[in-house]
Amino acid sequence: MFKKTDEQKVMRDPIHGYIHVDDQIIWDCINAKEMQRLRRIHQLGGDFQIYHTAEHSRFAHSLGVYEIVRRMVNEIEELKLRLSDYEKLTVMLAGLLHDIGHGPFSHAFEAVSLMKHEEYTCKIITESSEVHSILARADASLSKDIADIIKGCHRNDLLNQIVSGQLDADRMDYLLRDAYFTGTSYGHFDLERIIRTIRIVDQRMTVKESGIHSVEDYIMARYHMYWQVYLHPVARSYEGLLVLLFRRMKDLYRKDPDELREVGMLIPFLKETPATIDELFLLDEAAAFYGLAVLRNHPDPILKDLTCRILDRNLFEYETISDEKRIAQLKQLAEAAGYLSDYYIYSDTAAQTLYSPYQRNESGHNIWILGEDQTVKELSTISPLVHAVCHEKLKEDRKVYYPKEILQRNEKACSK
Ligand code: CA
Repeated sequence: MFKKTDEQKVMRDPIHGYIHVDDQIIWDCINAKEMQRLRRIHQLGGDFQIYHTAEHSRFAHSLGVYEIVRRMVNEIEELKLRLSDYEKLTVMLAGLLHDIGHGPFSHAFEAVSLMKHEEYTCKIITESSEVHSILARADASLSKDIADIIKGCHRNDLLNQIVSGQLDADRMDYLLRDAYFTGTSYGHFDLERIIRTIRIVDQRMTVKESGIHSVEDYIMARYHMYWQVYLHPVARSYEGLLVLLFRRMKDLYRKDPDELREVGMLIPFLKETPATIDELFLLDEAAAFYGLAVLRNHPDPILKDLTCRILDRNLFEYETISDEKRIAQLKQLAEAAGYLSDYYIYSDTAAQTLYSPYQRNESGHNIWILGEDQTVKELSTISPLVHAVCHEKLKEDRKVYYPKEILQRNEKACSK
């Protein structure tokens, strides 16, 4: 059976007050080297370039998700009664470990690595790692059950909903935490009230109608945080530079691997095959920034310039665009000013669906409200506010990024 810790361990946390640990296996996983690595990875990738205090780590977020799951399985009466001790521990571990496969720089890294962070996460949990040995020693089926919850395919769908549903512990923690550390006034909602009003009906998580206003707040928190923080154009501009830097490194590496021998920790991510979990383990943000410090003096002028722009925050300008024409035009301007457009013009499209209930009743994808008459209805059918935002068409934002010098030079050329 699973051992308890000798005494309850508590860790201070600005969002939850304290993180509470009573299970030895949770404590051992927190202390495993793959979890400790997350202390050296920012939760918000490039957002600290805009919100200068957004320096919190994925480690803090992972503890927060664990704490919300722990409270859900202990405080929501039906979960407390219905889930076995094994299931409770499995879902708490899934909350704790769900981000363990993240690389540095969040989204930018996701764009250049050949494997998604979810895949790395599941590999670390189910293959050879310190975390895996801890889990395997405790129970032979535990690591697979945790990976199934993270993939959203566990046989008990309630466990999937707790970690990755529409109203899940992951989202609830990151919205509150990111709001706190960016210092924005958006992103706040009443977590206590949501936990108090959750009820389980036929294997579905529902929220009592009296809790609907806190759920509406949560949906609006998502909306504002996406546009004000997660999809902020300056953060995207920073991430674009990282993508271009990796593109340049990959091209140089293909021609002559020796050119990048000084940044060995980055090389596994320049190859045509995905890096292994051991290689990912070695690349935290401390290592990546050391790599950048070395590249500042690289003989290749493009690599050097892109690196200095990242480190000195000399970011690209941006414009909102509606079609490809402006991109082509800026590429020409860049080339005319002596910049290779492959490495100096970047574009992206940000889109966010706030909350879109599926037509079919897939439990994990909807938020369900439990009426006073005990009937269960999908949130947007009874909340005019959510209904209005659901029926707005998908908001898309296309942008192109470029060095401001290319406009200045061409303007000068024109005025001569
Ligand atoms: Ca997460």
